[in-house]
Parts: sequence; structure tokens; C-alpha cells
Amino acid sequence: MSSDKKLHPETFAITSGRPISQAGASLNVDISLNSTFQAGSGLGYGRYGNDTWSALESAISEFEGGQTLVFSSGMAAISAVFSILPIGAPLVASNQGYSGVMTLLKGFHESGRLEVRFVDVTDNQAVISALKGAAMLWLESPTNPCLDVADLDTLISTAKKMNIGVAIDNTFATPLVQKPLEMGADIVMHSVTKFLAGHSDVLMGSLSVADPALHKRLEDARKFNGAIPGPFEAWLALRGMRTFVLRFEKAQTNAKYLVEQMKNDKRISRVRYPGFGAMVSFEIAGDALAAERVCDASSIITHATSLGGIESLWERRRRWEIESHVVPENLIRLSVGCENQEDLWADIESALQAI
Ligand SMILES: *Cc1c(COP(=O)(O)O)cnc(C)c1O
Repeated sequence: MSSDKKLHPETFAITSGRPISQAGASLNVDISLNSTFQAGSGLGYGRYGNDTWSALESAISEFEGGQTLVFSSGMAAISAVFSILPIGAPLVASNQGYSGVMTLLKGFHESGRLEVRFVDVTDNQAVISALKGAAMLWLESPTNPCLDVADLDTLISTAKKMNIGVAIDNTFATPLVQKPLEMGADIVMHSVTKFLAGHSDVLMGSLSVADPALHKRLEDARKFNGAIPGPFEAWLALRGMRTFVLRFEKAQTNAKYLVEQMKNDKRISRVRYPGFGAMVSFEIAGDALAAERVCDASSIITHATSLGGIESLWERRRRWEIESHVVPENLIRLSVGCENQEDLWADIESALQAI
């Protein structure tokens, strides 16, 4: 409905992805439960398209630009990108990105599906020298969970000058902080599961792309690999997006407050925060076991994996076998939610006593 780019994000979060405005029209898109459609024109078959997906896709496109495709999870979206690369294609990726991607890429590298060059994304020279002859640069910034920030402007423009495809996982920063398509990237990926949907009740992923030909290839990957989202999940994600801007701004304000408190607490040896967003990683003055005790000792913050929901969550990332060994054993990743900031700090303070 609204492709007017002069609107602000908190407005188009609300106006986008609605049915056409006319007398008697419903406000919200329906949950389209159809595996097939009558012949003649239109979507054809339920794996090819769905009106509820389309509404969500237009809302995400308002934020990221380009055209969007939604998938059954963030990993499904990521897998669609890797699936269009030729066998053995050289790919440059972060050495401590999202653990699911790292695990997938290690497997691809070992099997010869892709030749993966893992780099420190904060080291421009290292990334740029790895780019030589690469088919794609896959970046996450800030990285999960170390919150390292890559120099996206330089890396994207350098890769594009070398004619290398660039895909950015924008899950942590969100389009309220950075818009990679505008910086020249080819693909922007989201785990919609996180900040966009925002209520820890749905798994979904998205890809936004500027080039129609690339959009077609990725759409074919979705059609024929079959990683399509459910219509109800798409409806839930769109409903969650209505408050995305409000939630993100509140969570970010909370995060900034908590970071200030943490920096003054001797029980915390290092705070990692890029200066924006709602993710904070910190190392406690203690070992892995002490970090586990802290995560178990909170009462408002839930000890659980995942992030980007209205509720604050934390966990020691190295409790997962697949987490990169670059991540310190005593690092706790906190996803800051929308609770009251003083309540959150009081909860953290009392949990830190468990060290
Ligand atoms: C969660 C996450 C993913 C994977 O998304 P799912 O929806 O869980 O499949 C990818 N990248 C980042 C940065 C994530 O946090």
C-alpha cells in the first residue's frame, strides 16, 4: 500500500503490507490457507506464492529496499543464497559469525561444496586479500556473539569493484541502524525470528535484493528447494513488525543504560557493545561455571538462547558445542528486551552475586 519513501520507519511499519484501501476492506491481510489456486492466472500453487507472504515481504522491503522473499527460517534464507553458488565456489566469511552459518560453511568446505575462507571481519586488509577470486562475500556486522563491527562501506565497495557478490546478514543491526542495499550489497538477509517478528513465537527468514534477475534466482531456489514459510507464521511476523520500531528503540535505550552500569561493575571484566542496537555481550570476572551460575540466577531475564524478542534473554554462548572457539568461555550474550531498565539492572546485579 505504502511505497512512499518519504514516510518514516515507525509510520510504514504500520501502513505497509495492508490490503488495498477501499470501502469495507479488512485492515489486516488474511491468513491465506491455500495449497492451490484456480487455473488462469495468479499464484498457481502454494509453494510458488501466498498473499500473506506478499504482505510481509512488502513490509520488509519498505525497511530494507529492494524486493523481499520470506523463507521458513533464517537458515533457510541463508541456504537459498549458498545454493545458487557454483560447486567449489570460493566464499569469504567471518570466522566468528552466527554458529549455524559457521557449522553449515565448515561442512560445505569439508565436502568441497564451497571453498570457504574464514576471516576476521574487523581486519579490512585480511578480508580484502581473501576476496581475490572469490564468488561471494558473506558478512555479518555486528557479529554474533562478539559484536565486532566490520567496515561495511569499504568492504562492500571493494568487493563490488572486484565484481564479487555481497550478502549481509542484517539481523543484529536491523535496517534502523544500517541499510546494506543502499551501501551497494546485493543481498540483505534477516533472521525474521529475531527483531523483526520480535515475540519469540515464530521462526522465519528473509532475503531482500535490488536486482530483479537475482530475485528470480532466489525465488526459484525457494520454490524448488521448498523452504517456504507457513501462512500463519507470516501473519504473526507481520503483526510483530507493526511494533518493530517501538520495540527496537526501547530495547536499545535499555541496552545503553545497562552498558553504562556494567562498565562500572568490577564483576564484569569486559563489555562488548557497538554503540547501537539491543545486543550486549560481556565477560564476567570468573570462569565458565560462574557464567552459567549467573545465567541461572536471574529472575526477569530468561536463561535461553535466541534474541530480538520483547523479553530479555541471556546465555553463555560456549555452552553450545558448535560455537566458535574464538568466543571466550565466560562470555554471556544478553538480548535486551523492553522491560524497565532499572528492573533489568537490579536483576543483573543480583545475578552477578552468583560469581
Ligand atoms: C538466529 C540467527 C540466524 C538464523 O536464523 P533462524 O531464524 O534461527 O534460522 C542467522 N543469523 C543470525 C545473526 C542470527 O542471530
